[in-house]
Amino acid sequence: MYDLIILGTGPAGLSAAVYAARYKMNFLVIGAISGGTITQAHQVENYPGIEGVTGIELGKRMEDHAKKLGSEIVADSIKKIEKKEGHFILHGSKEYEAKRILLAMGADRTKLNIKGEDEFLGKGVSYCATCDGPFFKDKTVCVVGGGNAAVTSALYMAELCKKVYLIYRGEELKAEPAWVEKLKAQKNIESVYSANITEIQGENRVEKVVLDTGRIIGLDGVFIEIGSTPNKALIADLNLHTDNRGYVTVDSELKTGSKGIWAAGDITQNGFKLRQVITAAAEGAIAIYSIYLDTKKQN
Ligand SMILES: Cc1cc2nc3c(=O)[nH]c(=O)nc-3n(C[C@H](O)[C@H](O)[C@H](O)COP(=O)(O)OP(=O)(O)OC[C@H]3O[C@@H](n4cnc5c(N)ncnc54)[C@H](O)[C@@H]3O)c2cc1C
Repeated sequence: MYDLIILGTGPAGLSAAVYAARYKMNFLVIGAISGGTITQAHQVENYPGIEGVTGIELGKRMEDHAKKLGSEIVADSIKKIEKKEGHFILHGSKEYEAKRILLAMGADRTKLNIKGEDEFLGKGVSYCATCDGPFFKDKTVCVVGGGNAAVTSALYMAELCKKVYLIYRGEELKAEPAWVEKLKAQKNIESVYSANITEIQGENRVEKVVLDTGRIIGLDGVFIEIGSTPNKALIADLNLHTDNRGYVTVDSELKTGSKGIWAAGDITQNGFKLRQVITAAAEGAIAIYSIYLDTKKQN
């Protein structure tokens, strides 16, 4: 029985592990993807003190740091969280028990929910430019979205591809102005605003997209970067308060309001939410301080 299980090995979970290790807590970290979502980032340029690093490298450094301080990290995928009297059982490839849990599971990629999206997944449709980009060398692709993830993905794909379309439903990109400036300077990126893809078409692979403006664009790949939705299935049985999109509501200590459960990182609602490495890491640290004080009261 651990005092705490941290569920998630992204920036929130690994930052929490660093703090928990230094508070000498009795804890375990469980995560399916080491480093978390940031490993999908081609380049991270906004984490203070680390001027430019690939997402994979940043995730690895965080994991190495947590391990070096003595964190026990298990690679496993949790299918169910059971709340018992005074403790929790997490069901993965085996069962893990703890008195408290910190939910740091991030969020899953949002789908467009259009015709062709599921059919061509892995045959031209992708949710990760960094992972799948190299398969599209010298081809034409589009990136869908208008935030940082979409713009940085478009810039990355522009290094590899003949031509990149950035298709965004709004009139003005939401990404950081520094990224937008780079995007505008890139000759082989064409931005298409106020447009939605209604269908992805092809024979065996993606060949074209149909826009609601009537335009049809011939291309080889569609990269969907329109944000994320939290992992609702896993937390459904815990009866936590969430916002209308399913993000877990937390207070300033990252407490969920349900005894023994804290949440940190992209999974939380938390006011004016900036879903980034730095905010996820900060929430992981704050949650651990709150949990540490709780262990002092109740162990
Ligand atoms: C393409 C892209 C580029 C980005 N670029 C930047 C950037 O440049 N700068 C920046 O600051 N942010 C960037 N972000 C955002 C950043 O990646 C996230 O804000 C950050 O990773 C959130 O951290 P987290 O720990 O809350 O969640 P995540 O990083 O999503 O980690 C969640 C963890 O939970 C685990 N998990 C989930 N469900 C389960 C389960 N059932 N069982 C076991 N483990 C589970 C996952 O495997 C993972 O380890 C980018 C995101 C994307 C997609």
